[in-house]
Amino acid sequence: MDRPFVITLDGPAGVGKSTLAKRLAAELGIAYLDTGAMYRTLGLALGADAADLPEEELRRRCSSFVFSLERGDGEAWLLCCGGKPVGGEIRTERAGRLASIVARLPVLRSELQKAQQSLGRGFSLVAEGRDMGTKVFPGALRKFFLDARPEVRAERRLKELLARGESADFETVLNDIRARDEQDRGRAVDPLRPAPDAVLVDTSDLDLDGVLRVLLNSVHAAFGRDGLHSSSDAGFTHLAEDGSLRMVDVGDKLETRRVARARAVVEMSASTLDLLRRDALPKGDVLSVAKVAGIMAAKRTWELIPLCHPLNVNHVDIRFDIRDEPPSVVLESEVRVSGRTGVEMEAIMAAQVAAATIYDMAKAVQKDMIIRDVRLIYKSGGKSGDFRAE
Ligand code: C5P
Repeated sequence: MDRPFVITLDGPAGVGKSTLAKRLAAELGIAYLDTGAMYRTLGLALGADAADLPEEELRRRCSSFVFSLERGDGEAWLLCCGGKPVGGEIRTERAGRLASIVARLPVLRSELQKAQQSLGRGFSLVAEGRDMGTKVFPGALRKFFLDARPEVRAERRLKELLARGESADFETVLNDIRARDEQDRGRAVDPLRPAPDAVLVDTSDLDLDGVLRVLLNSVHAAFGRDGLHSSSDAGFTHLAEDGSLRMVDVGDKLETRRVARARAVVEMSASTLDLLRRDALPKGDVLSVAKVAGIMAAKRTWELIPLCHPLNVNHVDIRFDIRDEPPSVVLESEVRVSGRTGVEMEAIMAAQVAAATIYDMAKAVQKDMIIRDVRLIYKSGGKSGDFRAE
């Protein structure tokens, strides 16, 4: 699917929405939009007195908060306000209460809803929040409404708070959850309720993995199962039903950002290494040529590995580390793509061809160099998730 799509997750406080929405987004390789964080940011910044501001003034103040989704380190998406990631200060119970107060103001809601819709036009999202399915994304691909008994939610929230080192007791947390429920379900504007076409999931007696499985199965069903499967799944094999080879049809898979890194080591004598370091080998600048060779190899991988798909890679880099003990060049390739298949093969080919090029550039002075330890060391993106070599 090329157009951005949205999956919504609504439900009352403490139902585990945030953890589930984050994990669901990671499984699907798409961004996670925490709309509660937007209300919390405005709640903290404007305070409870925002309710007394004239409409125009409130609109003016809201418009100075510009939210965006930016890629953080690794593959995670960060919600930013004014270009900076929203900080941990919004995660307190006080910020939650202030959010709930300002969330009753129609002007503020409509400004935030517009911002959320605009983010949904640019990215595929798992959007989490009270009115996602009912109001903000009525045409979402799948809408989930998660619920659980208040006591179960209070227990979960209590664990979370204690794990963060905050002091809390069960009765207070339960009362807080009941008060938030009343406020959110009973309010005049956008009350908390499931969209008519939402999938209702009672999570009271399920653990996180259990709920995640329910959500993923339902999303797969919405796409048609093959649409989201990775090549490691049974349905996505390189063998056709009659046992002959086939190239997997990835036309319905999601385009996601994928990164792979591979490594290779070229071992040589100390004297060859010395010549390489001093740029004194007969064929010239070994590492520059090896780098270009590695980049070209990544781009041409599909011509060499029979069942690889042609990919428009976004970025290829080769880094070299010259080591004296044992005398060797350790090289690492990195390939990035926004695509439907991973770039592990591109990274491995880049590392191997760069290593072979070092051999070619230095073989006039030494024939018994050893190319070894070619391996994938990292990959991210795609349904099979992240991999990092030990
Ligand atoms: O989900 P979280 O606890 O971070 O949300 C804080 C508060 O923000 C909620 O209790 C709710 O009152 C408000 N909110 C909202 N609509 C959303 C997200 C949050 O009204 N889409």
